[in-house]
Amino acid sequence: MRWMQSQVFTKRKALCVLFLALLGCSTGHQMVTAPIQEERQAKNVILMIGDGMGLSQISAGVYSSKRVMNIERFKIIGLQKTHSKDNLITDSSASATAMARGVKADNATFGSSLERKAPKSVLEIAEENEYATGITVTSSVTHATPAAFVTYQPYRTMHESIASDFMLVNIDYLVGGGKKYFDRRNNDDRNLVSELLSKGYQVKSYLDGDLSDLTISNGKRFVYFTADSEPISHNAGRDYFVHACDYGVRFLQNMDKDGFLFIIESSQIDWGGHSNIGPMVIDETVEFDQAIGRMLDFAQRDGETLVIVTADHETGGFSIVQEDTKGELIIGFNTKTHTATAVPVFAYGPGAELFAGFYDNTEIHEKILKALGLD
Ligand SMILES: [Zn+2]
Repeated sequence: MRWMQSQVFTKRKALCVLFLALLGCSTGHQMVTAPIQEERQAKNVILMIGDGMGLSQISAGVYSSKRVMNIERFKIIGLQKTHSKDNLITDSSASATAMARGVKADNATFGSSLERKAPKSVLEIAEENEYATGITVTSSVTHATPAAFVTYQPYRTMHESIASDFMLVNIDYLVGGGKKYFDRRNNDDRNLVSELLSKGYQVKSYLDGDLSDLTISNGKRFVYFTADSEPISHNAGRDYFVHACDYGVRFLQNMDKDGFLFIIESSQIDWGGHSNIGPMVIDETVEFDQAIGRMLDFAQRDGETLVIVTADHETGGFSIVQEDTKGELIIGFNTKTHTATAVPVFAYGPGAELFAGFYDNTEIHEKILKALGLD
């Protein structure tokens, strides 16, 4: 890859400065290491992905928020490179595949093929090892990031085929949009909601009421559809996400298995970036931070849970240009697509020290397995 060689010096220099800044280093040349926690194995892992949430998006949340952000509670921080197999600028399916399966994929794909061959995802490996698993997102559950942990379809646009791949895993707790890809399909006559029910799932949707008002049995797998296709933005009234994360950890813990793996995505930070709408990016990031706070509170009480917060890539070339006379941030954008800037990784709990440093996004996969003792 030519870009890797020609710009390597400038890139290394720029990213080194960023890395040292993240670790609070004031000298330019000395390598600084993050504080090392006592090495313990994690029983549970919560992987939280802010889609399109680069360092500037986080900074905008920090400077806009009236209170200290929960993300400021992390002490162990790393950086990951996000380029895909065929492009310097990744898309979400390729970067989520890297984190989920530990391999680079071409943009718009999951590193699979029509022969359905791809390395197993951390979710599949966790399931095989008797861990409870959960996914909660603010997009459809068939969207690129959650799909990468489940599907073997070749392309991200194959929503109905991706939905049918959810029948091949046994996710214990699934909350997000995309109901129509399960029960009103165009490409075949299958009703995947009926199939889930016959597999013993509890299946509910926004049509049954708010998630927080439902009576849900513990110990019985649960799916809740928050929208027919894509959920609305937080600003437009979407209000299930923080509760779904909070309820999710308790639900997964109550499954009483060897531990759990919970994948959470704040999907719409990215959509604000694509639309170049600064206030939407900030609002979605601040909502995500509330969920981060709940997960950190759980991990602090529990003592056996590793919380990882990261992004799949940066979106928009988002930058904080200045503030106006009212103290509101003025945001600049460079693009309506993603960028190649490295993204931060925050970690708390047993195994957190594995996530310090500067590494490729494919390493997230093995670091999670190592933290769980499944490597
Ligand atoms: Zn995007």
